[in-house]
Formats: sequence, structure tokens, C-alpha cells
Amino acid sequence: MTKKQKKGEDFSFLKQSHDSKDFEVFCEIVIPKVPQAYTYGLKDSKNVKEGSVVWVQFGQRKPELGVVLRIIKERPSFKVKLAVPDSSAYSFSPRFMALLLWISHYYLCPIGASLAAFIPAAFTNYLDLLSKEKDKLKENSHGKIEEEVLLEIHKKLPPPLTLAQKKVCHQLKESLNKQGFRGVLLHGITGSGKTRVYQELVKESIKVDKRVLILVPEIALTPQTVDRFSAFLEEPIYVYHSALSVKQKRETWLQLLQKKARVLIGTRSAILAPFDFDVVILDEEHDASYKQHDPAPRYHCKEVAFHLAYKHGAMVVLGSATPSLESYYYAMQNKLLYLSLSERATEVSLPEVQLIDMQKEGVLQQKGVLLSSKLREAITDCLAAGNQAIILMNRRGYAKTRLCSSCGATLFCKNCNIPLVYHKQFQSLLCHYCASLYPVHSPCFTCGSETYEFQGGAIEKLEEEIINWIPSAKLIRMDRDTTQNVGSIEKILKAFRSEEYNVLLGTQMVTKGHDFPGVQLVGIVGADTGAGIPDFRMSERLFQLLSQTAGRAGRSREGALVLVQTMNPSDPIMRFALQHDYIDFANLELKMREMAHYPPFVKLLTVELGAKSFEVLMDAVHKLEALLKKHTQIEVLGPVEAFVPRVNKIYWQRFILKAASVSLFRKALKIAIENPKSLKIASSVIIKLEIN
Ligand code: ADP
Ligand code: ZN
Ligand code: ZN
Repeated sequence: MTKKQKKGEDFSFLKQSHDSKDFEVFCEIVIPKVPQAYTYGLKDSKNVKEGSVVWVQFGQRKPELGVVLRIIKERPSFKVKLAVPDSSAYSFSPRFMALLLWISHYYLCPIGASLAAFIPAAFTNYLDLLSKEKDKLKENSHGKIEEEVLLEIHKKLPPPLTLAQKKVCHQLKESLNKQGFRGVLLHGITGSGKTRVYQELVKESIKVDKRVLILVPEIALTPQTVDRFSAFLEEPIYVYHSALSVKQKRETWLQLLQKKARVLIGTRSAILAPFDFDVVILDEEHDASYKQHDPAPRYHCKEVAFHLAYKHGAMVVLGSATPSLESYYYAMQNKLLYLSLSERATEVSLPEVQLIDMQKEGVLQQKGVLLSSKLREAITDCLAAGNQAIILMNRRGYAKTRLCSSCGATLFCKNCNIPLVYHKQFQSLLCHYCASLYPVHSPCFTCGSETYEFQGGAIEKLEEEIINWIPSAKLIRMDRDTTQNVGSIEKILKAFRSEEYNVLLGTQMVTKGHDFPGVQLVGIVGADTGAGIPDFRMSERLFQLLSQTAGRAGRSREGALVLVQTMNPSDPIMRFALQHDYIDFANLELKMREMAHYPPFVKLLTVELGAKSFEVLMDAVHKLEALLKKHTQIEVLGPVEAFVPRVNKIYWQRFILKAASVSLFRKALKIAIENPKSLKIASSVIIKLEIN
């Protein structure tokens, strides 16, 4: 008999509804992924409070764990089912419960979906083991993870602080010793030694018995970050991110619940872990991966960090070479303390950036060649000198589109009406939206012809060009298609760091915060081809991409070079990046945002409606439009087709709403979210909401 079946039998009495007279206590209970909370009864009030973990049975589902959201004072007039406290008698802290409610409220996301974001794995498997593990841990004053981590610590003496770093550290310490909310923006150019500064701050925090959460945007950055801190601190470091195994997550969670950890390093989701930090550091704070897109709640890690810090009194440190415009704006408004490091710690100057005008490379371009002769020579020279190069190409696959040789039609995905991308690696055509694969030799969907050609090169093609034309290149490619297995990013980075390879070719994954001392050349191919959905942050993203990628070059030695291939050499953003001029870029871009009413000057809400039937969708869109028109404090843009109007056979339409505060959106949309039926919006319509 499996464990689950046993459980089902044990809890079979949960199934029936009972008269409310049979119970002593009533609670609203939230179950992960069940949108609303439901009322259950308990036999006695022992072991129940808000946050308690209880066994319940919902609908026809198996018995599972839920969390007590509220104790209800009045006896309900309807029949209710029984809830039984878990044998672990575990309950979530008031802080945790308050955050759950806030996330659900602020991001307009049903409570059950919000809870699912907090629970690191299948909840039922998870707390099931809590009671057993707790006993085990009691016997063992050191947790298992601690021991493992402690063994790995090799003490290294860090370099002495530079004068600029000392000044910044001094101000951070001053802020650390204050009470209540403190926010800091550390604007330090790439290689200015921000991490060295965080080390000091963390060390100081531990000294005064404060807990620190260190956030990085990318799972692949956690090993590097852990190394840099563990070499410096006499303190076990805990790690939390979505790629840990269920077992690892559970162990870390247990340790956090026992309040053992004082330093936690993690990615976005670590902000939801049960860790009551006094200091939170967001490294590379501008990075878009701090934002959760799908599924809901579509939260921003930074907003959650600020919310917690305001509410519970904590220090927030944002660090970046290219701060998000919001953060920079708040710093200029003195809402954040602005600290800057404007020199590289190693006293090496920033690399020279040159543009290569691809319109002048006409002949090559016509032949579909991606690599300019100048970049090709630069790579050859760089490798001949025994150095390494990083090449960025932000487009997956081999060729962007497949054209029919007879009728000229582009081959589109049948589910999404989006051009199919040829992936040589998979010997297939791939839709980048719904991930459908098609055979390369499919006949033309328009005329049936079987002859075709490819157009628009992508990263796999660039890889071929470099390997074929630069014999000294030992190239490793890092993009989503070469990093599907757990740990593969770390493997690639390690191999490159140990100089097994001398060229790292990748998508924007290669730009993030890595510190490779051997890199003397960075090439950016196709800088203008936006990676994602066109939106008001496009310029900001391009500037960040250019600056961050450039920042990987020449971190330890002079003479590094950054070459940017572009079709628009006169684009002002290119100019700013060329001159490493963040401040002027930010000021200009903020002016544009103010004129065009975009954040940080207004709040933005994207509302997307989706349905399989176009008629049903448009009906819902018109009803929502009518509702929104009544709210004069909200500026409504749209409805328009979503950027990809049809994904996986579902049609999508989009509104963009602007208002002075998020609460105005909430007021306007409350009814549409909670009770779409009352607006006569079909239940088959999907509503997606995303703030800013
Ligand atoms: P950032 O995080 O700002 O990009 P890092 O902290 O990665 O910068 O530092 C960049 C490089 O400078 C690293 O190789 C680091 O070891 C070195 N470095 C940092 N601080 C110092 C210092 N005070 N003296 C010498 N080298 C330093
Ligand atoms: Zn055709
Ligand atoms: Zn598709």
C-alpha cells in the first residue's frame, strides 16, 4: 500500500459534511491552488490558530494540508466538513500569514494561488515529514546542511577595502545601526567591488546579531555568491532557490523555521521563505527576473522586500551598475540613500566600447553572415594573446524564419501564428511561444511546396561561423537549449572559468554579474533585436544589456575591448552605453517616462484576457471595457491584440491601465476578478493581471 492510500484511509472521515453543531471551532482554510478559502469545523480549539496547518478534504480531491486563514466567531448555518490539525502542530508565523494576505491583495491574486507560491513543493509531502524531522533535528544541534557548509569553508583573506569602498561601508554601517525602515541604492559601476562591500555589511550585521537575506537574480549566480561569502564569514550560509531538490528545499525550510540561519542566499522566491531578515540585499536589482510572470501571483521580489522592510523595520540595499529607473528616481527623491562607487576596485579602467555599423557590412549581410570581419579579427587576436572572449547573441536557434521558395510565405505555428524558428540542434522547427515542434521538411502550409530557405541567423548559426572561421576558438554555448538539465549552467560557467574554453557564446544569460578575470573581449551581435515583448522598458533593457555585457570585459587587466554590432549606430541609447554614461541616460529616459505617463510616475496594470473562442473573448473584452470606462481616474489603453495574439490556440487581448495608485485598479477590477459571472463574462475566459 502506498503512503498516500494509507493517508486516504486514515482520513476518510474528513469526507462527510456535518451539522455545525458537531464542532467547537470554525475556520476559513486556504488550500494551495484552490482559489478561495473555505469554512471547515474543528472538534476542539486545541492547536488551532491563524497559520495552523490542518488536514482537510476539498471536493473530490484527496485529503491534503491547508492553512488556517481566520478563526470564525459565528457558528455557520450550513453543513461543514471536518478539519484536523496536523500531527506536527505546525503553524505559520503571523508575519508569514500577513505577507500571504498582502500578496494576494496587492497583486490581485486569489489566496490559494498565492499560498501555492509560498509552499516550496507539494505541501502534503512536505509538512508530512516535519514532525519526524523535527525530532531528528533536536538530537543534532548542528543541522545537516550546516555541517556540509562548514566543511566547505576555506578561509581566504579578502583584499583590503579601497577608499571608496570604505566610505560606502561606513555609511552602510551607520544605516545598519538605525531602527525602522532604511533603503539604500548602491550604484557601483561593473567591477567596482559591490560584492566586497556586501561582505563587510553582512559581517557587520552578524556581529550585531542581525539576519541577512542576499538575493541574486539567477540560480546560476548562487554558487559564486556562496563561495564569496563563505570564504569570508565564520557563519553557515543557507541557500534557497527553485532548482533545489524537494529534499534540499525541505531541509532548508526546516532550518529556517528553527531560526538557525543568519545568512540566506537565494533567488526571487527566497523572499517568500520563512526567514525574518533584518537586512535584505538585492544584487543586480535592475534584473527583470526579480519579477514573477507566470503563474500568479505576479509579484516583484523588490516590492515585497520593501513591503516587509516598511512593515517590520528592516534595511533594504539595492545594488547595481545600471539601477532600474524606478530605484534611481526614488534615490533622487531622497526616498533611498544614494551611494555610489564610480571606479573599478582593481583600478582598471572600464573597457573601450566601439560600434560596428552593420549597414556598412552590406555584402556579408546579404549572404546572411552574422559575424563582422572586425569582430572576427578581434576574437582571433584576443585568443592569440591567450585571453578569453564572451559573445552575446540574444536569439535562440539557427534561423529566425523558414520561407517558402515558391510562394514566399513564412511558416507559422498553427497554434500561435508566430514564425517558427529553425533549431539545428533539435533537427526541428520550434515555436517559441507554445514550444510545439514541427519537422524541418514540413511542406509549406500555404501552397504545399516542399522547397524552402531559412532567413535571419541566430545563435546556433553564429556558433558555426565562429568555429569554422576561427580555428583557435574553443567555444561553449550557453542558452536555454544547452542548459535544460539542472546544474548545466554552473558546469558551463565553471568550465569557462577554468579556461577549458576560450569563447563563451550565449544569450543574455552570459551578462549577469559573472566575474571572469580572463575576459578581454566582449562582442555583442544583433544588439538591436529586442529579446522580448516591446514595452516601455525597451530602452532601459537595451541600455542595461549593453552596459552589463560590456562590464564582463577587462575586469582584471587594461586594454579590454567591447564591440557592438548594430544596425542603428546613431541610436542615443547606444551612445550612452558607449560612454558608460548611466546618469545622462537615466535622466533622459525619466523625462520621456514622465511625458508619456509611465512608471515611476504612474502605476501600470496590464490586463490580458484569453479564450479559445474569439467571439467569447471579444464579448468579455467589451464588457470589461464598459466597466473600466466608468472609472475616470484610470487611463485605459486598448483593448488591442496581445503581443502574441494567439498562443496554444488561445486568443489574447490586452488592456494597459494607468493610475496614480494600485488601489484604484483594485477598486475598478474587484468585481471582474471575484465574480466575473456578475458581469456576464464567460467562465472560460482567462484573466491575467500584472502590475507594472
Ligand atoms: P561588482 O560586484 O561591483 O561587479 P566585484 O565585487 O565582483 O564587483 O569586484 C570586481 C573585482 O574586483 C573582483 O575580482 C574583486 O575580487 C575585485 N575587488 C573588489 N574589491 C577589491 C579591493 N578592495 N581591492 C582589490 N580588488 C578588489
Ligand atoms: Zn508556399
Ligand atoms: Zn506555437
